[in-house]
Amino acid sequence: MGHIVILGGGESGVGAALLAQAKGFSVFLSDQGKLKEPYQDQLRHHAIPFESETHTIREILKADEIIISPGIPEKSELVQTIKKQGIPLISEIEFAARYTNAKLIAITGSNGKTTTTLLTYHLLKTAGFNVGLAGNIGQSFAKQVMEGTYDYYVLEISSFQLDRCFQFNPDVAVLINITPDHLDRYDYKFENYIHSKFRIFQNATAQTSCIYWGGDEVIQQYQDLIPNNAHQHVIQFDQTTGAANITDQAIEFAFGSINRATAPIQGPHNAINMAAAVLAATEAGVSWSDIQANLGSFQNAPHRLEPCGNWKDIQFINDSKATNVDAVFYALNSFPKNIILLIGGVDKGNEYDVLNDLVKSKVKGMICLGTDNAKLMAHFGDQVPRIISTDSLETAVATSMQWGESGDIVLLSPACASFDLFKNYEDRGDQFKATVNRLTYGS
Ligand code: ADP
Repeated sequence: MGHIVILGGGESGVGAALLAQAKGFSVFLSDQGKLKEPYQDQLRHHAIPFESETHTIREILKADEIIISPGIPEKSELVQTIKKQGIPLISEIEFAARYTNAKLIAITGSNGKTTTTLLTYHLLKTAGFNVGLAGNIGQSFAKQVMEGTYDYYVLEISSFQLDRCFQFNPDVAVLINITPDHLDRYDYKFENYIHSKFRIFQNATAQTSCIYWGGDEVIQQYQDLIPNNAHQHVIQFDQTTGAANITDQAIEFAFGSINRATAPIQGPHNAINMAAAVLAATEAGVSWSDIQANLGSFQNAPHRLEPCGNWKDIQFINDSKATNVDAVFYALNSFPKNIILLIGGVDKGNEYDVLNDLVKSKVKGMICLGTDNAKLMAHFGDQVPRIISTDSLETAVATSMQWGESGDIVLLSPACASFDLFKNYEDRGDQFKATVNRLTYGS
């Protein structure tokens, strides 16, 4: 039948191993890091051979096809060796999609993937659809396909996964936006990253619904990459020609409109996400009356513009998931003014110029939080009334409390990765919330 090797033994890798075995392949899984115990147990239970904390190249090169985790760098010696041998490298998404007839809704973008995916899932689920959630989120897509439980899947897809998708052809494909991110992985060429994101549409046919934000300049510029015959549903600001038209007050569709003031998620970026989710759900068959009935009960995941405290009428907002400049742009746009901004961490080749106007007009104090704040201090030093550099979260929060006055917003929206001071963005957000809680309590 063939031999499949899986590189990376996390949720998606182990799921892929189980599916591959169920489909009759011989399977070997290899991970350079330490495989978590529960995953080891699952593999042992199914008698799937694996190795942990090492890659045995000789074994890996025996594969007919290799399913690779999105976390393994393209430039690694291992990937280069595999490519030289000409062994096909695919993603778990590409592999699992071969074995399901379920309707697939796939969502990508530089920002807003998780929010849009969760909302789309919520709209299908609450309308009574038999729907699974997978991709970058939740349980492995492959494992769920193996169990064969669902008729629909909502998939959050990253550019790294798309790089290894070839035949994958979702029924509904959503591209929210494209702004520079992960450029370290794309030879510092934005062009390469753009092409990667457009792979979500690469196999679209007349049966495919392609949904995207038409106000995104990059998407506009490259929209010819969408196959001609595909159905295009465009989201626009202040226009009447789109499938969804966003104004200051509402999101208008051909079938009805959403009042933005009472919507469950706020800010211009979330209007785009809501428009995308509603169009995706509609294309999957959810009725407008179900959407209207259920939109209001949506709760977004934490760390995305999450209110996390109010002290002396100062609001604390945890936007730890804002790991690139564009997300911070939208976060700053979500509040009128008087923002004390906590920013910083591991810079991914950021260009901060796009924030200048917003920072000058809205930020009354900036707190740079990271082990190396030199670039931020140099860039924003002249733009804000006060700025400090610290590597202590405690100092950062305490300073924001000293500076803050009634009506101010203290916003953690870092524009950077977190792993200089924290384990990941969740840890950063959790520690921020806990510190806010501790320092404001009783003081
Ligand atoms: P992703 O899964 O793509 O990282 P999330 O929904 O987790 O997206 O949101 C990540 C960050 O981006 C958050 O800070 C959020 O406030 C911001 N964000 C969400 N949607 C958008 C959007 N459409 N455009 C720009 N920023 C967004």
